[in-house]
Amino acid sequence: MKIQSVRGVKDILPGEIAKWQWVEKTAHEIFSRYGFSEIRLPIFEKTALFSRSIGETSDIVEKEMYTFDDRGGDQITLRPEGTASVVRSYIQHKMYNPPSLLKLYYMGPMFRYERPQAGRFRQFYQIGAEAMGSASPLVDFEVMTMLIAFFNKLGLKDLRLEINSLGCPDCRPAYRETLKSAIREHLDELCGNCNQRYERNPLRVLDCKVEKDRQIAEGLPKSKDHLCEVCQENFNKVQSMLDTAGTPYNINPKLVRGLDYYTRTTFEVTSENLGSQNAICGGGRYDSLVEEFEGPSTPCFGFALGMERLISLLDSEETDGLNSKPDIYIVCLGEAAVSHSLNMVHDLRYAGISVERDYESGSMKSQMRKANKMQAQFVLILGDNEIQSGKYNLKNMDTGDQIEVSANSLLETLRSQLTG
Ligand SMILES: [Zn+2]
Ligand SMILES: [Zn+2]
Repeated sequence: MKIQSVRGVKDILPGEIAKWQWVEKTAHEIFSRYGFSEIRLPIFEKTALFSRSIGETSDIVEKEMYTFDDRGGDQITLRPEGTASVVRSYIQHKMYNPPSLLKLYYMGPMFRYERPQAGRFRQFYQIGAEAMGSASPLVDFEVMTMLIAFFNKLGLKDLRLEINSLGCPDCRPAYRETLKSAIREHLDELCGNCNQRYERNPLRVLDCKVEKDRQIAEGLPKSKDHLCEVCQENFNKVQSMLDTAGTPYNINPKLVRGLDYYTRTTFEVTSENLGSQNAICGGGRYDSLVEEFEGPSTPCFGFALGMERLISLLDSEETDGLNSKPDIYIVCLGEAAVSHSLNMVHDLRYAGISVERDYESGSMKSQMRKANKMQAQFVLILGDNEIQSGKYNLKNMDTGDQIEVSANSLLETLRSQLTG
C-alpha cells in the first residue's frame, strides 16, 4: 500500500520553493527595517489558549481546530493562528519589561480542519506581525504601510486597503445592542446562520456572504457611526496619516473580522485578482487581549497574511528568474579529471560560486546535455590535456564565447563574468 499525504495538506516542491523563499526573505528584510524582530513559536499550545483568545463562538474554535489529548492527558491544539501564541509568550517572558513598543513577526504553518477546496489547505502558512505596547494611531498607520511596502516589493498590483473602526469597550456594547435590535426587525429575511449567531455575535451579520443578507446589511447601523470620542479621534488620525502619506484606502463599514478580540482600527488588503474571497491579509487593533490573559494593559496592533494566496498572486515575470541555476558545470573526462576536480569544485563552491557536476562518469555528450538542462551559465571541460597544461576552456553557454583561463585565474574570471 502506497502511503499518501493526509487530505487537505500538500508538499511544497523544489519547483515552487524559490517563490516561498523569496517572499520570506523579503518579509525578513522589510519587517526588520521597520524594527520588527522575528519570534519562533511552538506549533502546538494548550487548547484553552485558543478558545479563550479567539472566542468560543468563532467558527475556528467551534469547528476547525485540530485538538487532541496528548499522552499525559493535556488538551493540545495545533495552532490555528499566531496571535494567541505571541500574546502568551509576551506575558510568559514578561516582554512588557521595560515598558516600550515591542514589534514582533512570525512565519510558519497553521492548522484548521476546513473543507478542502481550491486554494484552501488544512495546513497552511501565514506571516504575521504584532506591535505591542502602544495605542498610538501612528502604529496602525506604520504597520499597514509596512505591509503595502512589502507587497509592492513583491510586485503585487491592484491592491486595495480597506479600513474600519470597531470601537472599544466604552462604545462597543451600546453599538452591539443597537445593531441587535436593528437585526431583529429583519430576522425572517436573514439566513439561518445569521439567525443563529446574531445574539452572540451580531457583528458577523454585517459580513455574511449571502447576497440577500448583504443587501440588508447595507441598511444596518455601522460601528463607525457609533464611536466614542476617543475612538473617533483615533480613526480620524489614522485616515489623515494615510491621506498625508498618499496611501489610498476605502472605509468599509462591513469589515468586522472573524475574531472577537479586535478593537478600533481593523483592516484588510484585498486584491482584484483573487475573486470573491479576495483578502490576502487582515488585521487590526486588539487592545484588551493581553489583559484578558492576565498581562498588564498592552494595546496591540497586528496582522496575518496567507502565504498560499499571496504566492498565487505573484507575477511569473517577477519570479521566473528565482529558480537557482548553476553558475558553472564542470565536465570531467576520465578518472584523473574526477580526482582533479574534487578540490576545484570545493574551492569554487566555498568561494560563493554554485557548481554542478556529473556523478555517473557519463560521456562528454551526456554531461553537456545535463549542463544544458540545468541551464548552467558556464561549462568547463576537464580532461588529461587540461590537467597537464593547467589551462582550461571556459564556455559561456549564453553567448557561445570561449575563453582560456589558468587554474589560478579561474575564480577571478568567473566572478567578473558572473557579475558583469
Ligand atoms: Zn470607543
Ligand atoms: Zn446571513
